[in-house]
Amino acid sequence: MSDSEYPTANVAGRDVPYDPEQLRKINEHPCYSEQACHTSGRMHLPVAPKCNIQCNYCVRDFDCVNESRPGVCSELLKPEEAVRLVQKALEEYPYIKVIGIAGPGDPLANEETFETLRLLKEKFPTPIKCLSTNGLLLPEKIDELVKYDVGNLTVTVNAVDPAVGEKIYSFVEWNGKKLQGRKAAEVLLSQQLRGIKMAVERKILVKVNTVYIPGVNDDHIVDIAKKASELGVFTFNLIPVIPQYKFKDVVPPTHVEKKAMQDKCSVYIKQMRHCQRCRSDAIGKLGHDVQGCLYSKE
Ligand code: SF4
Ligand code: SF4
Repeated sequence: MSDSEYPTANVAGRDVPYDPEQLRKINEHPCYSEQACHTSGRMHLPVAPKCNIQCNYCVRDFDCVNESRPGVCSELLKPEEAVRLVQKALEEYPYIKVIGIAGPGDPLANEETFETLRLLKEKFPTPIKCLSTNGLLLPEKIDELVKYDVGNLTVTVNAVDPAVGEKIYSFVEWNGKKLQGRKAAEVLLSQQLRGIKMAVERKILVKVNTVYIPGVNDDHIVDIAKKASELGVFTFNLIPVIPQYKFKDVVPPTHVEKKAMQDKCSVYIKQMRHCQRCRSDAIGKLGHDVQGCLYSKE
């Protein structure tokens, strides 16, 4: 599939064209449309500090590396503060078309995410609402996301075989228990796959992020791309691992290796090749962030 080609939507197992509202959420979203990244901006609201899993490449002092780049702590905002910032940002930077929640932890593990979405729906119904998650709570929360008009969703899937997944996750917090090893990977995977299917059925546009971890999941990434395609996922974003925590000695893939892997995956699913590894408080066009200006005026 060429990178500029749109797949059709998968509704109840049938391929149908995207509807006009879905097309808006593709064409105005800088991460879903390479053209839009020159004209539209996005705004991430850092309202979600907690996480319910432990990825072996994540140091929890920083932003969720599944979607954002670590190394810079985002200032946490309360939902009301976040909404005030949105007001200011939309006034000063009218090209912002997307409001997202991407951490610094897992958005679905934080009640503040839902209060923020509720306020956004009330006060700013037009901008696209976007969220990224590890997917553990997706089936249980999906209808709340629909209620608050979340139209674009990123789920990080690093394995579709629990034997690979168990090498990537130290633990998963599930029903008040801390699961480890194979069981943890099985529960996470099953929730991710169910959640993605439910999201696609509800006409949410899904992006799958996969962290490329040489020696751990590299032989398995094409299988993830195939699975994402079968589930009706819109686009696939391959992210090179940042060596830290338990994977501190892993050598990240080179640009050439990353491109070769994207090319292999592109047989099955459209590739996002312009990801900027944004902070969870990023504001502006991709690669042209303005959050420094906006936060300093707070
Ligand atoms: S889901 Fe994100 S915040 Fe949670 S452990 Fe993984 S990378 Fe870190
Ligand atoms: S981290 Fe990548 S996918 Fe997420 S907002 Fe930035 S460019 Fe888009």
